[in-house]
Amino acid sequence: DARQKGENCIGFFRNDLGQRAKEILILKSGLEDAISKKEFVLYYQPYVDKNFNIVGAESLLRWEKGSEVIFPMKFIPYLESTNMIIYVEEYVLDIALQIISRLNLKGIKIPLSVNFSYKTLSRENIIDILYMKIGKFNIDPDMLRIEIVERIFIENLEYTKNLIEKLSSIGIRFMLDDFGTGYSSLSYISKLKIDYLKIDISFIRNIFDEYTKRVVETIIFLSKKLNIKTIAEGVETIEQFEILRDIGCDYFQGFLFSKPLPEADFENFILINNKILPIDKTNP
Ligand code: C2E
Ligand code: MG
Ligand code: MG
Ligand code: MG
Repeated sequence: DARQKGENCIGFFRNDLGQRAKEILILKSGLEDAISKKEFVLYYQPYVDKNFNIVGAESLLRWEKGSEVIFPMKFIPYLESTNMIIYVEEYVLDIALQIISRLNLKGIKIPLSVNFSYKTLSRENIIDILYMKIGKFNIDPDMLRIEIVERIFIENLEYTKNLIEKLSSIGIRFMLDDFGTGYSSLSYISKLKIDYLKIDISFIRNIFDEYTKRVVETIIFLSKKLNIKTIAEGVETIEQFEILRDIGCDYFQGFLFSKPLPEADFENFILINNKILPIDKTNP
């Protein structure tokens, strides 16, 4: 009966909470020394223009725990809730800058982006940190791109707006990630000086739907008016690519071109597909 069911539910719920608590404990103890054990690694996913030239790449965090590869969705929320994300993202920045400078030395100029949480962006001295590290690795600031998600702005629009303006004046480029999934997307792009807009995978999945296609077409049209470059996220098929290309999308990222790759594979991928465009300084 209902009462019995209710009791079972409570019992189940308790177990479930216990399980969750156990998971969090394991996560916590593992994450605490993951940096020193060098268990955090970056994977790199290129994006291309309509002629398949590689025009940039995104760094994506992985936690290699023994033989297990753990994806960011599993541990980023925990890192964010404990402020540990600040240390991890500083490490991500160091590694990314190191790769940029190493590739530069080999004559490969490929802009690399990092995904930053609000915790990192709101570090008191974030501008100095970025400035100092870029100087230390002796790279062109134009080679570093920062991806931010819309939810970051909801309560911090003024702060973020100022920060983007200051960092843009140094030459760092900003990308608005997962565009279209937030609350008031259009209001953000009208207020922030961003250089790239990444159209969320949910639109790309539904691009065969005529109405979705028109929405994406409008996003692209608007972006062009604002001098913002568009990148389609999660392009998996040639049919999706062709539609997006035909409606004027600038760049394309997704499994169709490459999965996120470990460093050595990424370098090989670039060398094999040796079609890197010269960086156009006048047009980010
Ligand atoms: P994101 O920045 O939107 O990254 C795109 C995600 O889509 C990546 O998942 C990528 O592997 C996946 N993806 C790429 N192409 C395709 C495709 O064709 N099909 C499908 N189905 N998926 C594709 P990943 O690597 O699991 O990362 C998930 C999210 O974790 C990222 O979403 C980003 O928000 C976050 N993340 C990753 N690294 C960091 C980091 O260092 N800091 C922070 N704060 N977040 C990070
Ligand atoms: Mg991203
Ligand atoms: Mg994204
Ligand atoms: Mg996404």
